[in-house]
Amino acid sequence: VRPSGNISLAVYRRELEDALHNRLSLEAELRRAVEQQEFHLVYQPQLDLATERIVGVEALVRWQKPGQGTISPAVFIPVLEEIGMIHQLGEWILHEACARQVAWSQHFPAIRMGINLSPAQFEQSDLPLVIRQAARLAGADTRMIELEITESLAMHSPETTIKLLQNLREDGFKIAIDDFGIGFSSLEYLLRFPLDTLKIDRAFVKDITRGRSDRAIVRALTSLCQGLGLTTIAEGVETQRQRDYLDALGATEIQGYLLSPPLAEKDLLVFLQNSFSP
Ligand code: C2E
Ligand code: CA
Ligand code: CA
Ligand code: CA
Repeated sequence: VRPSGNISLAVYRRELEDALHNRLSLEAELRRAVEQQEFHLVYQPQLDLATERIVGVEALVRWQKPGQGTISPAVFIPVLEEIGMIHQLGEWILHEACARQVAWSQHFPAIRMGINLSPAQFEQSDLPLVIRQAARLAGADTRMIELEITESLAMHSPETTIKLLQNLREDGFKIAIDDFGIGFSSLEYLLRFPLDTLKIDRAFVKDITRGRSDRAIVRALTSLCQGLGLTTIAEGVETQRQRDYLDALGATEIQGYLLSPPLAEKDLLVFLQNSFSP
């Protein structure tokens, strides 16, 4: 052992302790945040390329931590999943998103509402009931609610998942597959899952103007989806050139900073107002 061995071990141990401490206080803060309802939703518009109209939004959750600004869901969703509190937040998100969808429909032509569901939420056996109840209580048209799932959902029991999704679709809900990869299993799910929409991951969109292979992948995905009768939504579209390529490659809709970042409700309503007035 080098002389410095003990020192670096001590530093390492200290870092571990810090990480553990941070993690424990994050958990405690999250428990409080769920009780105190420190969360809100922002909404990112989705544009239909053929009609050039806004046809939907995706609801994205934010944590407004007192005195510390807005915290990304990429940080707190995984923790909520682990400590078993994603159900509570997820139920609130479903109710809130459905209620907003109904409220807006009085001022604008139907705007579809995309709602993210984490795989952990599906461990709750009454999730379909919770989803139906949220839509019913809000008086939402289920056909305007799009549930965004990820393929990791089917890891354990594809058969159960397929049945569950089938039931939700029979109720009218739309099902979108999010963060779609191009592994063999991905394609298998695409063929086997009852789906309405495929969201083309930002990873493919990012290099679409540069790499031939990304263009080939997007073209393959859009034509496969066309054949299967699925809508494609390209995510993370930041430039006009990306938009032009996606249009040419046959994507149905785009979403990303080019159109708008996720917006608070009042800003979204201004955005919709402007986009629907000539
Ligand atoms: P996601 O579902 O893939 O959401 C898209 C993410 O890309 C969002 O990050 C959005 O703000 C970001 N984005 C949108 N347009 C662009 C763009 O043009 N360029 C770039 N670089 N990024 C863009 P966000 O809001 O931080 O959410 C991160 C992830 O957290 C989401 O990824 C989703 O997996 C999860 N999440 C967010 N809201 C919810 C929720 O309500 N429930 C659950 N279960 N998960 C959520
Ligand atoms: Ca067009
Ligand atoms: Ca999503
Ligand atoms: Ca995504």
